[in-house]
Amino acid sequence: MARIGFVGLGNMGNPMARNLLKAGHPVRGFDVVPEAVERARKDGIGILQNAAATAFDAEIIITMLPAGRESRAVWLGDGGLLAAARPHTLLIDCSTIDVATAQEISRAAAQRGLEMLDAPVSGGVGGAEAGALTFMVGGSGAAFARAQPILALMGKNIFHAGGPGLGQAAKIVNNMILGISMIAVSEAFALAAAVGLDAQKVYDIVTKSSGQCWSISTYCPVPGPVPGSPANRDYAAGFTAAMMLKDLGLAQAAARDKHVNTALGAAAEAIYKRYCESGGAPRDFSGIYQLVAQKTS
Ligand code: NAD
Repeated sequence: MARIGFVGLGNMGNPMARNLLKAGHPVRGFDVVPEAVERARKDGIGILQNAAATAFDAEIIITMLPAGRESRAVWLGDGGLLAAARPHTLLIDCSTIDVATAQEISRAAAQRGLEMLDAPVSGGVGGAEAGALTFMVGGSGAAFARAQPILALMGKNIFHAGGPGLGQAAKIVNNMILGISMIAVSEAFALAAAVGLDAQKVYDIVTKSSGQCWSISTYCPVPGPVPGSPANRDYAAGFTAAMMLKDLGLAQAAARDKHVNTALGAAAEAIYKRYCESGGAPRDFSGIYQLVAQKTS
């Protein structure tokens, strides 16, 4: 059994850490938010006083933090994980962050002789709870091989995307599709309602037709057809609209940098920005339906 340090015990980190614990690995973690700490403590995760303390005797360190700023601070900052990690510790950042920061952290780890992977995930809180996430991993083949048995306790599909940062690249393009498709599905439901077509009928027909996609079949943005989707709990997150906006911004930054035309990605970013600015930021990203369904004058 490997001793695991886990930093960031939020919506995703908590159930991921619990799955490691369930498999018999001792997990000790840290979070800056007292509610997250209390929940983790109740779930049997050992709680330490700061991030660096989780590295003290860990063989594997995993982080699941909001964005690049937090990842950089926790890995590279004063009292950060890289300075505290022991030799041979395997380092895995599962947060969704920008490619450049992931590569910067990876380089700093390599300078200390440590193996580092960027391993963002897809599958949402439901996937994290079920141990059914998809992992998109960037880093060396050797580090990937070491990490695979641990990632398999939290996920069902584990892909080696390529070298450092390319796990993040895979995640960014996936979420650009997701953001666009959630808006497309929301527009379809809004239009269907306006012309008198029942939402359940839309669901039944589209999920068996060529418009079928995850945004309608698994995460339907209108209440009813998929009982477990956030639409049925007033869009409580889940995956917040703020995080979707962050990911669409990462995709746009990469597209600008590489001169790639991503017109729909840019439109999706603008629509999520409007939703976040109008109070939607902490809600689930499928709440975009509420904005899309507002009638034009
Ligand atoms: P979250 O906000 O629920 O969890 C992040 C946790 O990190 C919080 O508990 C926060 O307190 C903690 N944190 C922030 N700064 C910290 C620090 N300096 N030290 C220790 N802890 C710190 O977010 P989440 O939904 O769990 O998402 C985490 C990451 O996973 C994000 O990058 C997100 O884009 C990605 N992701 C989320 C989902 C989803 O459905 N929620 C799906 C796929 C990927």
